[in-house]
Amino acid sequence: MNPPVRVLYLAGSGRSGSTLVTTVLGQYDGVFAAGELRYLWQRGEVENRPCGCGRPLRDCPLWGEVRRELPTDRAAAIAAGLRGRLRMRGLPALLRRHRRGVRPVPAHPDDAALADLYAAVARHTGARVVVDSSKLPPYGALVGALPGIELRVLHLVRDPRATAFSWRRRRGLDGDADPELMSRPPVGKAALLWLVWNTVTVRLWADRAPAGYLRVRYEDLTAEPEATLRRIAAFAGVDPAGGPFTGPATVRLTPTHSVAGNPSRHRTGPVPITADVQWRHDLSRRSYALVTALTAPGLRRFGYPWRRGGPAAANPAGSGSSVAVGSGRSAQVRQPASAGHEEG
Ligand SMILES: [Zn+2]
Repeated sequence: MNPPVRVLYLAGSGRSGSTLVTTVLGQYDGVFAAGELRYLWQRGEVENRPCGCGRPLRDCPLWGEVRRELPTDRAAAIAAGLRGRLRMRGLPALLRRHRRGVRPVPAHPDDAALADLYAAVARHTGARVVVDSSKLPPYGALVGALPGIELRVLHLVRDPRATAFSWRRRRGLDGDADPELMSRPPVGKAALLWLVWNTVTVRLWADRAPAGYLRVRYEDLTAEPEATLRRIAAFAGVDPAGGPFTGPATVRLTPTHSVAGNPSRHRTGPVPITADVQWRHDLSRRSYALVTALTAPGLRRFGYPWRRGGPAAANPAGSGSSVAVGSGRSAQVRQPASAGHEEG
């Protein structure tokens, strides 16, 4: 009997730094940065979109090994099945089942293929930890109930005004040249999604399984990148000493084989980790007010101020910020650090 596959599941809302965390963790010994595995079947297998290494997924040698063990001829059907099982309208029933102590996402014949995917990834990469940045809490609940999986949940949270602003940027799904854009929900919808996904993540894991749950705020991550990544590595059961840091806030990245995610996953070489704070200047007053009103319960829970000039969160971002994490942009744009901006 094989030992269980340890999966570090990155949960929460989009645009919270999950691609960066995945790419950095993938540089540690014994870790495989798998990316958003819930998209493997559609974007990887059916659409043959680029792997993190730059090759179309079906041409990547590593995924070639893994795919041989999977029912790839059924990829479209498996993708459709997942979409159907993970719909937003199923959330109340999912939480009811969780409260009763039964599987939050009911079993399904495709689950065998999903379990085989994680086992094959661990076998062919030799990784002790597989990082899955799928984020969607219902998918994490599904994965956690698969046989042979030991789930640890890293909950990444970011100020919802920042994520709402980031969602509105025009961005190709696989970089600037890609005509297919990443989704761009209106700020009100982005705010509601932020509230729902972060609340459901807390209900599913923080309340029930605190030993297997770690919450990290984007603002703390970008203020102290190396120290925060060490904490995450230790939580995942990885030697924190073996990371890619060349300074407290600089990493040297080599290509990963991650599936889907922000286009920034293709960046390699020396990369400074800094906060993307453009929203503080460029998010309109109306949008700020709307997002703040819609996410009010979560703001309090996660320690974010209501007002732009409100009291600081527990760990305010470091000075000299530049556009980087979560922006998905390859260009670094220096922002003045002391222009009297509205940072709390
Ligand atoms: Zn690859």
